[in-house]
Amino acid sequence: MAALTPFLAAQTGCSESLTGIDTFSVLSSRCTGCGDCLTACSYGAISMSSGSANISSSLCTGCGKCVNRCKHSAIS
Ligand code: SF4
Ligand code: SF4
Repeated sequence: MAALTPFLAAQTGCSESLTGIDTFSVLSSRCTGCGDCLTACSYGAISMSSGSANISSSLCTGCGKCVNRCKHSAIS
């Protein structure tokens, strides 16, 4: 799996944090503020600010549920 990590990162746009966990971030220009990702996240890693979702890299486990939930491809 470790050998696949760079490939997956390139495909998803996710980044590896200092903890070694691949975390996700929100592209604010695509985010509509619908809030669907908040309900998908079981770790309280997503908050809303100024009508856009934000992901805390320190709380995100990289599970990817929010990515699948977002209909606007705003999370990568
Ligand atoms: S689901 Fe997507 S569009 Fe909706 S708030 Fe989350 S990131 Fe933004
Ligand atoms: S990848 Fe998982 S833990 Fe991280 S913000 Fe999305 S749903 Fe939450």
